[in-house]
Amino acid sequence: MLLTITTTYKPATDLGYLLHKNPAKCQEFEMTFGKAYVFFPEATQERCTAALLLDVDPVGLVRGRRGSIMSGLLDQYVNDRPYAASSLLSVAMTQVFGSALRGQSNDRPELAGTAIPLTAKIPALPCRHGGDVFLRHLFEPLGYKVEASRLPLDETFPDWGEGPYFAVEIEKTTTLKDLLTHLYVLIPVLDDNKHYYVGDDEVEKLLRKGEGWLASHPEKEAIARRYLKYQPSLAREALARLVEEEDPVLAKEEEAGLTAEEPLEKDISLNEARLGAVMAALKGTGAKRILDLGCGEGKLLRELLKEKQFEQITGMDVSVRSLETAHERLRLDRLPARMKDRLKLMHGSLLYRDRRLEGFDAAAVVEVIEHLDPPRLAAAERAIFECAKPRTVVLTTPNVEYNVMWKLAESSQKFRHGDHRFEWTRQEFQAWANGIANRFGYKVTFLPVGPEDATVGSPTQMGVFRRD
Ligand code: SAH
Repeated sequence: MLLTITTTYKPATDLGYLLHKNPAKCQEFEMTFGKAYVFFPEATQERCTAALLLDVDPVGLVRGRRGSIMSGLLDQYVNDRPYAASSLLSVAMTQVFGSALRGQSNDRPELAGTAIPLTAKIPALPCRHGGDVFLRHLFEPLGYKVEASRLPLDETFPDWGEGPYFAVEIEKTTTLKDLLTHLYVLIPVLDDNKHYYVGDDEVEKLLRKGEGWLASHPEKEAIARRYLKYQPSLAREALARLVEEEDPVLAKEEEAGLTAEEPLEKDISLNEARLGAVMAALKGTGAKRILDLGCGEGKLLRELLKEKQFEQITGMDVSVRSLETAHERLRLDRLPARMKDRLKLMHGSLLYRDRRLEGFDAAAVVEVIEHLDPPRLAAAERAIFECAKPRTVVLTTPNVEYNVMWKLAESSQKFRHGDHRFEWTRQEFQAWANGIANRFGYKVTFLPVGPEDATVGSPTQMGVFRRD
């Protein structure tokens, strides 16, 4: 298994300082799965190449694993581990190029932070799913020039056709740290075999190494899913946390608590009016299994718990802190078991399809959509109405027309809450909701919530979506 990194930065031999390796020497490192060697096949002022060669012992890899010897599977001994780039390469990179991966160089600290021309070559990279198209989708959005040629399954038997391996070259003027980091994350994404335990700390690693680029990568969902070896719960957690990372406003709001909305609306007990309206709509449907999407600190959950009709109640939110507050306020630890069993809190994001949300009778989405960036609203629409698709959806959002009643227009504040990305007029909300109903096979009715003014309507608008 081989990775080479070449630079034409002058003097090119500075690559040795960046990697903390002497170009004149071949160094050997013991790994749990074999040996790693670092050497420099070329090292001139104009051009320097460092090679990381892994000599993997496939038998050593399975030795000592409970049950593995007894299972007698031949492919545990005869496999592509020794030559195809895999997550073992990432493991070796952390051990052999650890400082370079962290962007540290004692001798050339400024060069470590400088973009230099770099080319990485991997002679055998497995791309079993998606081939070189997926490979390009991974590296090109990060600004790499990608060259990939598919290797024959066996060059002595051309009739056997092509194999799943590619000879790959990626090129970019970037820092060595970024190049190594991208390889560190994306090689295991291409490698579908599991050969290490994937636990919670892998989520941490992915988020740490993905800092600054993963949140905006168009393939971030596939990257998280594959990096975490198709463990949906871990991938979901990673994605939800990426959303938070990307969304500093949301993170700030979590710290401040959801206070800004309350003083403005308290005068008219709008909160209570809204909870009452949502409860009535939910009760009227006869629903037993209820979702509260974007449940926040659990005000609606508390009301739902009081009603025996609701046998199963699930609150979901992207903010862990809000969920913790909900857990405390509802005194979940102290509730009698019979009551506690009815309620589940879960961490997730409305921007992603989530199997856990399927099979519910009704969902409440109370004062949530206006917190989503308009370009992301479409993803939430599909997650709610196409994937989760409960029979009933009760959704509320502010009516911006009513803001004049609060003299918001005279202050610098545009919306009722600092984190609102938009607030709609009644017409805008109804056009949106009718569009959803048409697209996803629902019928929608509209109800005003709170005191109604003849000209500007009520402060909150509610849509009740039903599908047969
Ligand atoms: N429904 C609650 C909270 C409304 S505040 C109530 O009426 O009191 C908006 C909530 O939406 C916040 O708790 C916020 O964390 C949550 N939220 C924002 N974006 C989300 C997303 N993408 N997925 C799930 N919840 C989200």
